[in-house]
This record gives sequence, C-alpha cells and structure tokens, in this order.
Amino acid sequence: MAKVTTVEQAMEIAADQTLIASCANTFSVGGLLVDDAGNVLHAMPNQVIKDGYTSDPTAHGERQLTDWYYANSKNLPEPSQITVVTSLDPCCMCTGAILTAGFKVLTAAYDTYSGINYDTKSDFPSLTPGMAKRAETRFGYPEVVDGVCYNRLAKGPENNVPAFTAKTIQGRTVALCENIFQATLASVRQQINNDLPFDQLGDILSLTSTDPIRVALSSKYAQALQYRSQAPFTPDEGLVPYLKAMMQYDITLGGKGQAVALLDHHGNLLLCKSGSESMSSIRTAFMEVTRTYAGLRRQLQMDGIKDTRKYLPHPKYCTFVFALGPMLDDEPRVRPDIGPLSQTQSFMELGAYGSTMEGALDTVNNPSPYQYVRSRMNADTLAAFCTKMPPLYSSEIKVNPIQVTNQGLIEGIG
Ligand SMILES: [Zn+2]
Repeated sequence: MAKVTTVEQAMEIAADQTLIASCANTFSVGGLLVDDAGNVLHAMPNQVIKDGYTSDPTAHGERQLTDWYYANSKNLPEPSQITVVTSLDPCCMCTGAILTAGFKVLTAAYDTYSGINYDTKSDFPSLTPGMAKRAETRFGYPEVVDGVCYNRLAKGPENNVPAFTAKTIQGRTVALCENIFQATLASVRQQINNDLPFDQLGDILSLTSTDPIRVALSSKYAQALQYRSQAPFTPDEGLVPYLKAMMQYDITLGGKGQAVALLDHHGNLLLCKSGSESMSSIRTAFMEVTRTYAGLRRQLQMDGIKDTRKYLPHPKYCTFVFALGPMLDDEPRVRPDIGPLSQTQSFMELGAYGSTMEGALDTVNNPSPYQYVRSRMNADTLAAFCTKMPPLYSSEIKVNPIQVTNQGLIEGIG
C-alpha cells in the first residue's frame, strides 16, 4: 500500500487519475482515498463513458470510491478517518454521497459550473444550513503556491489528513486538474446527449416479446412493460402495486422504503427498483435505476442492436417516478412508517439526476422528467432550493421535481 506524507503527493495521484480518464474520453477527473496515517487505500478515475458509450452517469471518482469503501470496509478505518482527495470540487451527487458516508475531502481545483462551491468561496451556497455546517468541517481546499495565477489561500479544514507534513499544493498540479477537465468537458457532455430527437423515437410495445431489446429489459426487471400509463408523462394509480412492492423490498435491503420507477415517453414501465443500502448507504433506488438503465443501453449498443436508442430513449424523454419526494428541510422528521429520512441522500439523488441528464431537458415534449408521489417537504421550499444549486442544475437542466397529479396514485402509496 502506497503511503503519502504531503497533500501534494496525494494530489499528484489524483492528477494521474485525470490522465487515465482523459485517455478513456470520459470526464477528466480522478481521486483517491487516504487514511489519517497517509495510506493510499484506493484510487479511481471517472468512468461515466466507457468504450465510447455512456456506461454509468453516476461513475464519478468520488461516488465510485464511496461504493468501493463499503465493499471493502471490513478492514478499513471509519469514514471519519478517511479523506477523499479529488482533482475537482465534488458535484452535488458526490457531495451528497460523501456527506452520507461521512468522509473528509481535499480538493485541488474548483468547478464553477457543477461544483458544490461553484462560487469558489467555500461557503456551500446550495446546501441547507444544517448540511453546510457538516460540510464546512470536512471539505478542505488546500493552499496553492508557486502558481502564476493559481495562488490561493487555504479554505476549510487544513488538517484533514493528520499524517501530512506539508499542506500546500503546487500551482501546476491545480492547473493540470482544472484544465484537463475543462478541455474534455464539452465533448463528453455532448457524447452523453448524443441521442435521437423525440420525433424519431419508437414504441417498445411494437417489438415482439423475443426482440433482443425486450429480452434484455426483462432480464433487468421481470415486470417491465406490464404497466402503461393512460396518458404519456402522467403516471397513474396503475403504478401503485409496482412501487409498493419495491418500497417494501427496499426496507429489507436496508433502505427507508424508497422506490423509483422509470416510464418511457409512452408511459411504458421500463424499470422499478429499490435501493441496496445494506451493500452501500449511497446505493439508493434512484442510483440503482439510472445506473441499470444506462448499463442496459450501453450493453445493447455494444452488442450492435442499432435501434436501442429508438426504443430505449435518453432519460430526458422518460419519467422518473420517486415513491418518496426529496426531503431537504433542515428539520429532519422521523416517520414511523418509513424511518429516519436522510437529507444528504435526497441531495445526492437530485445531483445524480443532474448527472443523468448532463444537458438541457426537452421541456416542449417532456417538462417534468422528475416526479414524486409522496411529498416530504413544502413544494415552494423545494423549488427555491433547486434554484440555488450550481449552474448546471439550476440554469441549464433546471432541476424541478414535481408531485404526480394522479390522486389515485398518491392515495395508493399512502
Ligand atoms: Zn460528482
């Protein structure tokens, strides 16, 4: 196991991961986990794009490192004794994941478009006061020296890794982390949104049940296509049994009773999943659905199924139906029927939805891809919260979760 004694040494490992990501034509970001003694536990690059296809929109370095930790945590220190060292300021999804797990963070470069401190002031403008307070004690932005225009004073905790004997990073390391990301950003985002326009989409029910697309979909969710809403983009009471079954399953797998369904542009039920929180506290239902859907589309395209994108459209043309809406109040409530609620998981899911879209929605055809059944906070407060998210989410995607309109569905979930 490699050992590092300065933050610069650790950051150079993160910078090396950005090179690996860049060569794979995905977002050029990378990071590592370091324990308080300076041991490098694991390093990973971003893996959103693999072999030219969107593989997993949530495969950012920090999110993957968090799942890696849970898969290997038996012989590792507690998260409070581990630091995520990352080349780029965490996005909303990764911030939610890191806060849920309880890691510390050291960041090289700011990200003024998607980063949690997009204003570069390290004041966490998007978070509720409660979440910001937790983040302020854990997110460090080390002092930068030697740069011509990269000099910067330290912000946040400087002593995230007690074993580090030097707390500064070199300007050239920050310049690499920032510029290699910026150089690839537009092409990767374009790749994620390289899909068919709405008027070229087909209806998956027009395919025979032995078509490879339907067979592959059924292998991911046995009840796929058993429900179709009466009107497109308008989930109704017919969805109740599918959501309820997964809500119950979620609890058996360590979750809080969440479930997320994915309907296509005709209202066909493609997927409905619970989380897998007994494996990792960040494997919530939405994370499982969006990852499964992206993986399914990638595999079919890799297998040469040319109409994949016609019958399994880009998620912006679909409707994600959350059984439980976001919960971002600063006064966490405990509901006996669904247990303690996690703000940081809700924030992670809002961020992961942004990572799934990575570009403007098609609001003419589908104004509300993010719908929830049971409300868990005031709708105006939620809308105001979303306007304070970093520009990618608030200005470009315009993240706007709304409650479903069908009363039978709302009453059915209870
Ligand atoms: Zn991220």
